[in-house]
Amino acid sequence: FDRLKASLGKVRETFTAKIDNVLRRRKIDEELYEELEDTLILADVGVPATEELLEKLKARVKAERVEEVEDLRRLLQEEILHLLGEPVPLLLPPSPPAVILLVGVNGTGKTTTAGKLAYFFRQQGKKVLLAAADTFRAAAIDQLEIWAEKSGSLFVRQKEGSDPAAVVFDALQAAKARGVDVVIADTAGRLHTKSHLMAELGKIVRVAAREVEGAPHEVLLVLDATTGQNALSQARLFKEVTGVTGIVLTKLDGTAKGGVVIAIRKELGLPVKFIGTGEKIEDLAPFDPAEFVKAIFD
Ligand code: GDP
Repeated sequence: FDRLKASLGKVRETFTAKIDNVLRRRKIDEELYEELEDTLILADVGVPATEELLEKLKARVKAERVEEVEDLRRLLQEEILHLLGEPVPLLLPPSPPAVILLVGVNGTGKTTTAGKLAYFFRQQGKKVLLAAADTFRAAAIDQLEIWAEKSGSLFVRQKEGSDPAAVVFDALQAAKARGVDVVIADTAGRLHTKSHLMAELGKIVRVAAREVEGAPHEVLLVLDATTGQNALSQARLFKEVTGVTGIVLTKLDGTAKGGVVIAIRKELGLPVKFIGTGEKIEDLAPFDPAEFVKAIFD
C-alpha cells in the first residue's frame, strides 16, 4: 500500500491538493461547489462523472445536514469510491489455458504491460506464455522476448510482418501441448484505419475462439493515463472494434491526470483491472478502488 501511495505522488500533489485547497477556506456554498467542479474537470474526471459527483454531494449535504468542510471531503471520497464500484476480477476459465489479449495504441505501454502481467502470473506459480502478435514492429518482438526471459515465461514469435493470427495460432498450440496456464498476446496497435484494426483483431479473436474454448477470456485495453481525455477516445474506438473486457491504465506514477480512472468507469462502463505504476516488472497491481481512493485521499 505504501508503494502504491508513493507512486501516486503526482496525483496526490495535484488532484488531492487542489481539492483540499478548494475545501480549505470557507463554508459550503454554491461558489465552493463551482470551484470543486472546475477542479474535478481539470483533473480529467470528465464532465459526466463530475456532474454525478456534485449532484450526490449536494443531496447528501442537504439530507445529512453537513456543515463542516472536512465532512464534505469525506463525502466526496465516499462518492468517488461508490462511482468506481467493487474490484472486478479477471475472467479466467476453470481449465487452462487462459487466453488474454492486450490491445491498444502504440506507446501506451502495451509490451511492458505484457511483461508485467506475465510476471504477475508467474508470482502465482502459473506457467505463462507470451505471444508476439505485434508482428509489425521488430523492436516490439525483441522487447517482448526480453520480458519473457525476465519473467520466466515461454515465448512464441514469428518473423516481422507475419500474420498476427498465425502467431496466436502457434502460441495456442504450444500452450496446449506444454500445459501452459496463461497465454498473453501482445497485439499491434497501429491506428492505421478503423476497419484495418477491426479486421486484424477480429481474425485473432476468431483463431483464439476456435483453438481454446471461450477464448479470448480477457481483452484488456492498455491506456496511458498521462493522455487524459485522449485515453477516453481511444477506449471508445477499441470498444467499437473489439469486445474489450477491461482496462489496464498505465503510467499513473507519472501523471496528475489520475481522475481519468473515474471518467473511464463512468463514461465507458469498463472496469479498470490493473494499474501500471512504473517501468519495472513489479510495477503492476490489480486495481482495487478502495485502496486507490485511500491512497490518494489519506
Ligand atoms: P507499447 O508501444 O504500447 O508496447 O509501449 P511500451 O511497452 O514499449 O512502453 C512505452 C514506454 O512507456 C516505455 O518507456 C515504458 O517503460 C513506459 N511505461 C510503460 N508502462 C509504464 C508505467 O506504468 N509507468 C511508467 N512511468 N512508464 C511506463
